[in-house]
Formats: sequence, structure tokens, C-alpha cells
Amino acid sequence: MSAARIIKPPPMSGGDRKYYAREIHKAEVTFANLLQQAATAHAAADDARAKAYALDCAAWNAALFIGEFDHVSPTIAAAIKGGFALLEVRCEHCKHTEIIDLALVVQPRDRQVALMRSYLYYGSCQRALGKKRRPDLIGLRPIGDPQPTAPSRRTKKAS
Ligand SMILES: [Zn+2]
Repeated sequence: MSAARIIKPPPMSGGDRKYYAREIHKAEVTFANLLQQAATAHAAADDARAKAYALDCAAWNAALFIGEFDHVSPTIAAAIKGGFALLEVRCEHCKHTEIIDLALVVQPRDRQVALMRSYLYYGSCQRALGKKRRPDLIGLRPIGDPQPTAPSRRTKKAS
């Protein structure tokens, strides 16, 4: 339906034609500049948003540490965008620590990280006790953070 409009301008003098061509050229330059400025502004906005998400994650970590468990947690998407894509959990029963990569979790991305607890349990504890033990959430960790506290992450699954 969006066929190009066919504009038939009236005959123009030579001077008018030059003026018209100049105006078109100026508009093309303006268009390119606007595209460039918009791209730069979007990149800056994405950076600022990622920093805000990172602060949300750090604040939630602090809340967990001081026992403010009602503090609203970041969503999975926010944790990933903020660079805190690893969730550290610990089973209080067997003291086992596990690091979960949120990027690999099959959960809606708008779900709060805190709700992950309801979906986690340790296979080893389940086998030993015959029931599921929910791990405690310890906090979000940045990607690339060295994790010496997760010695046997490959031997036990938290899914
Ligand atoms: Zn356990």
C-alpha cells in the first residue's frame, strides 16, 4: 500500500534547480548526522542502564548479606545486562556451594533472581535425604570473578 508518491514539480528555473539540489543535499547530511547522534545516544543510554543494573545487583548482594531478604531482587535480564550473570547459592544442609550461570537458566528473563530459589535443589542432598533441599541465595557474582569457593561445581548439579 505504501507505493512511492510520484511528485511532479512544476518546471523550475536553473537557479531554482540548484537551490533544490542544495536543500536535498543538506537534508541528506542532516539525516546522516541524526542517525549518528541517535546511535551514540543509544549506546550511552545502554551503558548507563548497565551501570544501574550493576548497582541493583550489588545492592541486592548487600541486602542478602545483612539479612534484608525482602529487598526487591534484580530480574534475570537485569543481572545479565549488569554483568552479574552468576548466582552463588549454598545448601545449608551439606554446605555445598554452587555457581549458576543465569544466561543458561531456562526461566523467563523478567523473573526476579530471588524466585530462582524455588527451582533449585541439590541432587546429592536429594538422594541422601529423599527430599529436595532449597539452597540459600548468597549473591550475584560478576562474570569472570574467580570462584575458589566452588570446589566441586562440576560434580553436583543444581537444577
Ligand atoms: Zn545439600
